[in-house]
Amino acid sequence: MADLGLCQGHQMCTGEAPDVFAFDDDTDLVVVTLEHPDESLRPQVESAVKYCPAMALSIEEEA
Ligand code: SF4
Repeated sequence: MADLGLCQGHQMCTGEAPDVFAFDDDTDLVVVTLEHPDESLRPQVESAVKYCPAMALSIEEEA
């Protein structure tokens, strides 16, 4: 459901959806900690996607 592309390390997403995104200080990139977050976390993920300044995040719907 959450897919990662062009992360520039702004760390907005980890603030918006801390259950789904974490930050790796070594690589300066975000890590998706929950590849398939529960439906209840969708609002968090949606706002993380919305606030990512690099537009690096998107939601990938499961088939
Ligand atoms: S908000 Fe976007 S650019 Fe910033 S850490 Fe998250 S994915 Fe990376």
